[in-house]
Amino acid sequence: MIKILSIGMLGLFLGWLTLYVQYAILHAKRARNMFKCAACGNELTPRVVIPRLFPFYKHKICMRCHTVITKEVALLPVVSMIVLFVLNAYFKNLYQALLILILLQNFYLIIYFDIKYAIIPNVVIFSLVGVIMFHALFNLGQVSSLIISHMTGVLIAMTFSVVTFLIGKFVFKADHVLGMGDIKLMVLLGWLYGLVGISILLNSALVLGAIYGVTQMKKSRSIEIPFGPFLVCGAMLCMFTGQALIF
Ligand SMILES: [Zn+2]
Repeated sequence: MIKILSIGMLGLFLGWLTLYVQYAILHAKRARNMFKCAACGNELTPRVVIPRLFPFYKHKICMRCHTVITKEVALLPVVSMIVLFVLNAYFKNLYQALLILILLQNFYLIIYFDIKYAIIPNVVIFSLVGVIMFHALFNLGQVSSLIISHMTGVLIAMTFSVVTFLIGKFVFKADHVLGMGDIKLMVLLGWLYGLVGISILLNSALVLGAIYGVTQMKKSRSIEIPFGPFLVCGAMLCMFTGQALIF
């Protein structure tokens, strides 16, 4: 009973934290500890940007233009909680379930920001690095036995970035082939998935991206495709078809 309760609380909390990161990035302002309303530019106190932990359904609005700042429909925290229960039942290991949940939440942020603003926020990259470092510190033996696999994964990701960049630059004469965020993400995924995983991941991302690109090409000549969501789709595909992370 206590275990079920704490898993529920953890899931809710992590979902709420993800919501907060999402709003904080949306309203980020470079000044210290201040945020700006994305609609009118009014300065917001951090308190307004932090989503309510309870009740979830009450929105916080900008005092000047009344735009909704944090939209709480309880969806993300509740979905996180359900996903954590499912993962925990599947792996029978809360630690592993938590790691996968945090990965999925980072994937959610990548999809949201890359589609909407064509960026992969650095916060997400830091968070992924954090997960990897945390895991490495507490499972040193496991990591060192897999180090070759980790390193080859990273190497594949880097080679892929360089080749894609060169092809884009010299064959297609494009300026923006891959963003820095895409490259960082690929390298991290290379570490997480290893040689075999990252190869499958990159190939499926390419295929998905190409299919999407062709459908968009009919609408307009010049298109910019955010690559992040396809990388995430590839990563999820690997995760759910048995190409496990090499955690
Ligand atoms: Zn405003």
